[in-house]
Amino acid sequence: MYGSSSPVRINGAGPTGSLLALGLASLNYSIDLFDTASLDTICSKSRAYALTHSSRRLLIKLDLWNELQPFLTPFKKLRLEDRGIRKTVNFTNSDLHQSNQSACAVGWILDHSSLMRLLMRRLELSPNVNLYLNRVSVDNFSPFNNSYALIIAADGPQSLTRKQSEIPFWTHQYSQGCLTAKIRFRNINSDEAFECFRPEGPLAILPLGETDFQVVWSAPLHRCRQLASLETTAFLDQICTILPYGLEPDALLDQPAAFPLQLSFAPKLHRGNVLLVGESGHRCHPVGGQGLNLCWRDVETLLQLMSLASQNKKSLKNIPSRYTKLRFLDLLIVGFATDLLVRLFSNRQSGLLIVRRVGISALKLWPFFRRLSLQAMTDGPGTFLSRLPK
Ligand SMILES: Cc1cc2nc3c(=O)[nH]c(=O)nc-3n(C[C@H](O)[C@H](O)[C@H](O)COP(=O)(O)OP(=O)(O)OC[C@H]3O[C@@H](n4cnc5c(N)ncnc54)[C@H](O)[C@@H]3O)c2cc1C
Repeated sequence: MYGSSSPVRINGAGPTGSLLALGLASLNYSIDLFDTASLDTICSKSRAYALTHSSRRLLIKLDLWNELQPFLTPFKKLRLEDRGIRKTVNFTNSDLHQSNQSACAVGWILDHSSLMRLLMRRLELSPNVNLYLNRVSVDNFSPFNNSYALIIAADGPQSLTRKQSEIPFWTHQYSQGCLTAKIRFRNINSDEAFECFRPEGPLAILPLGETDFQVVWSAPLHRCRQLASLETTAFLDQICTILPYGLEPDALLDQPAAFPLQLSFAPKLHRGNVLLVGESGHRCHPVGGQGLNLCWRDVETLLQLMSLASQNKKSLKNIPSRYTKLRFLDLLIVGFATDLLVRLFSNRQSGLLIVRRVGISALKLWPFFRRLSLQAMTDGPGTFLSRLPK
């Protein structure tokens, strides 16, 4: 029997593990949070996240939203382009579910470093969190260790905790990889984000404030690696050839980096008292910027279960299986939908071009379809069957 003050171990202090630790600490659980990396390494990734409304609600609940405001770049329009059939659809505030419209943004872009610095500051101040950074997590650790009520794996896609616990994990390696770069443009409207479907893969252009943007360029992995190794002028010349009409790059702001992409999924997110949260349990293609938002919906579900257990003074024994059940459908649908989008749009088969034409025309003509697809992207497909909180 575990009480609400029983210690919970979290392996991994990335955006998922850190947010979960703060949430659990606010419920009065005592947390040991481990990461193999140092504070500087954890905070210094050059990456930006597209946040959806499900993430906004969680950050408000955890009292982080207001403090993040100076670092959030809202976008009021998401422009979706299908280059294969030369059609465009715009998603705006009026396409959001009514309960999201007062936030006045389709989504927000948040820089990794600003997010992690705030989370780390809060963790250091929390009396319920013991932070062990720069530690080899296997030290003193064996899965199913009974001195912890729960052991939570938030140690990312290569999770050692998952491997040591022998939790089955299914992975499909995409031939596409992705290249990220921060770019300054000339004369651009900074409240617009772009998702362009191109035959070699999707291209996302996300506003970082003023005229700076994060570009997430999906293409065959060998091409991404080759692009990442180009000199600045040669790289900017290459990017000019794929940008939407009117966008002109002015300067490259960081070193472009290439990453392999996978679709991964653990059908069962637990074994014994070990539980997979965030990318240790699933991974999807970055199309639509779902990754971190999906990880944070794991966090939200686990916090709800842990809060109920603490209020009712119940054992944490049933939490892992209930968590797996509650997360299964959202993870399956989002993984399947992102995969379908990539397969549908990354080719030129004539039959599929017709499907795309019909789909884009339906989105253009009927606000109902825009609202439905935006709700699936921003609140999660699970919300079709439940009421959204205000
Ligand atoms: C190129 C790219 C672009 C992306 N763009 C977006 C986007 O626009 N929007 C979005 O929502 N998502 C995006 N994502 C996905 C997003 O980065 C991930 O969803 C997010 O980082 C997952 O967070 P995490 O905390 O689960 O894992 P990670 O960020 O991988 O963190 C894992 C942590 O665990 C630590 N660790 C590793 N091994 C151990 C161990 N053995 N013991 C203890 N600690 C360990 C690591 O040091 C790290 O701090 C993108 C991903 C990539 C690759």
